[in-house]
Amino acid sequence: MINIMKGTKDLLPQESYKWDKIEREIKEVTRLFNIRKIATPTFEHTELFLRGVGDTTDIVNKEMYTFLDKGGRSVTLKPEGTAGVVRSFIENSLSQLPQPLKMYYETSVFRYERPQAGRLREHHQFGVEIYGADTPHQDVEVMLIAKTLFDRLGIKGLELRINSIGCPTCRKDYNEALKAYFASRESELCQTCRERLIKNPLRILDCKEEKCKEIAANAPSVLSYLCDPCRAHHEKVKNLLTEEEIPFEEDDKIVRGLDYYTKTVFEFVAGNIGAKSTVCGGGRYNNLVEEIGGKPCPAVGFGMGIERLVLTMETVGASFGEEPSPDLFIANIGAADEAFRLTSVMRAHGIAAECDVMGRSLKAQMKLSDKLKAKFTVVLGESEIAGGVVKVKNMKTGEEEETAIERLAEYIIQKKANV
Ligand code: ATP
Ligand code: MG
Repeated sequence: MINIMKGTKDLLPQESYKWDKIEREIKEVTRLFNIRKIATPTFEHTELFLRGVGDTTDIVNKEMYTFLDKGGRSVTLKPEGTAGVVRSFIENSLSQLPQPLKMYYETSVFRYERPQAGRLREHHQFGVEIYGADTPHQDVEVMLIAKTLFDRLGIKGLELRINSIGCPTCRKDYNEALKAYFASRESELCQTCRERLIKNPLRILDCKEEKCKEIAANAPSVLSYLCDPCRAHHEKVKNLLTEEEIPFEEDDKIVRGLDYYTKTVFEFVAGNIGAKSTVCGGGRYNNLVEEIGGKPCPAVGFGMGIERLVLTMETVGASFGEEPSPDLFIANIGAADEAFRLTSVMRAHGIAAECDVMGRSLKAQMKLSDKLKAKFTVVLGESEIAGGVVKVKNMKTGEEEETAIERLAEYIIQKKANV
């Protein structure tokens, strides 16, 4: 017996309708916001992520699935969704399309992490990437996309936390202030943070070690270092959120796990609902396109973990909708071929129809129809075929009605509309 690899998960047929629900709502929300889908490969040149994610991040330092392919190239499985989209944006000259260019992706994400609830080595993300606009309106629209999805999925109680981490201009002074502060407590920091202190002190604010978190809590606030334009941008984001009546909290310790953010960063956190975890994280990354080799282009987006979304929905008791079931089960007594054919005819009429293909007894077929939660059942036998009439049983009410086989599709469609 070969077991599944640690930190990975099967999506089983009896659970997949939950993901279907999420996918349907993603389709609807992206339609409402006029966002097109983009899909990029599962693996890319390692270099893309070194540059795009940043070499002082946990992702690049400890979590990437990197290997040499048979041609000796260094290849990495996507550890996040943005870098590939940026590469594609540049490579395909997508800046030629009307801006802002609004895109979304659904993808597997691979990170070598210590597996635990809501933390996998392969997880899935829905993400949004919007290129070309540098306004607070665009930031807030991105938050609204996530918020609309949560609302449609029936998830209440997620906290929106926002922060601004400024631009390279204000970050310089802030980095100095952070360095001075953390240097005074260097001996108490974890080994990784001591390295971060030299390379990128901002990263210390994202450390998961308890002691480092405690020290970081009293670090200088980035908000008091923002330059005038960044401050104005941040104030406007807050005003717009207030106007949209979206509750939020300012949290000056949010820096996000990736190096490329500028100005606005935000998270939706399941604070009071179950395990405290981030369901969605995002922000603005105005320098990333240039960093990867394109012409400067402002961008903003988010990534949302589907597994954590499902967990959160389960925790709050949100509805995943009805499990899919056949509209009609066509049982047969010695008429497997006729039932098989009639099932095809029903499907051609748009009816989800099912029949027995395992030679079951009538009793076993009825049991199966029950288990599949078919809405209607008919039994096809010699006399039904000869008379051209079947009895249709409504499985919910137990009522039976006769109809001509010729008119069966019409009958089911009409009854379904009235259920
Ligand atoms: P965390 O702080 O929990 O490690 P992160 O900052 O690394 O999260 P992002 O890189 O922003 O997360 O990814 C976006 C979203 O993807 C997260 O908010 C979360 O919902 C989900 N996610 C991230 N890592 C994992 C994982 N290992 N397993 C499952 N979901 C994940
Ligand atoms: Mg992480």
